[in-house]
Amino acid sequence: MSTRAAGPRRRRIVAGNWKMHFLAAEAAGFCHELRRGLAARVEVVLFPSFPLLPAVAAALAGSEVALGAQDLHPADRGAHTGDVSGAQIRDAGCRWVLCGHSERRRDHAESDELIARKVAAAARHGLVPLLCVGETREQREAGETLAVLARQLRSGLSSLPPFAPAAPAAIDRAGRAGLVIAYEPVWAIGTGLTASPETAQEVHEFLRAEAAGLAGEGAAVTLLYGGSVTPANAAGLIAQPDVDGFLVGGASLDPRQFLAIIACSG
Ligand code: PEP
Repeated sequence: MSTRAAGPRRRRIVAGNWKMHFLAAEAAGFCHELRRGLAARVEVVLFPSFPLLPAVAAALAGSEVALGAQDLHPADRGAHTGDVSGAQIRDAGCRWVLCGHSERRRDHAESDELIARKVAAAARHGLVPLLCVGETREQREAGETLAVLARQLRSGLSSLPPFAPAAPAAIDRAGRAGLVIAYEPVWAIGTGLTASPETAQEVHEFLRAEAAGLAGEGAAVTLLYGGSVTPANAAGLIAQPDVDGFLVGGASLDPRQFLAIIACSG
């Protein structure tokens, strides 16, 4: 079993994907609780739905917690009723955006090719694309997991400008270049089933090698695990050498649970 590599501590990130939950007052209340309880050496990002962005941006003002959107349109502007551009997201105070979440692949038939264009649009607007990849239960049972993940990763990153360590989309708070990727097995999202620490480690080790090959030497690769993460299973997962944090769905709606996951990730 591999051990955590020596050298500078890798970036740690815990992100909350609120999906289609909360009204503005609930979101503001959550942010208040979060700010009161936050004391960890971890970057925290919240991904509320679009209408909540102004309330959450206001509630997080002056804090270290970053704001992200759950989607963006690949075009910069135009006749796309109901869609939101990278520039609008940026203007609303976001620095991050989710790309390739399995619920969008499923609910909106998002293809690898469309996701690649969204990643590129995020980069153009100085947003960090948090690229989500993950296999379905059928794909895992058919032994296709690594092939599926490699395809999603290669495709997702294919439209980025030739990867430059200085690409603004991939700069962290400390000015380090890199990619941020979430491994989210589809069978684990919202199901209460979690990848075992060993399974998460095996996949993350694979993704780190693949991403390093694509991004080039010197680019930091931050790998988050997502899929029914709770305070009860987070410690075992974060103890794995290639798990750098979490993308949390259900448990990110409860400030106490979310804070507990953050605390054990630091
Ligand atoms: C997610 O939606 O990204 C997610 C991981 O959800 P949950 O934690 O509820 O499985």
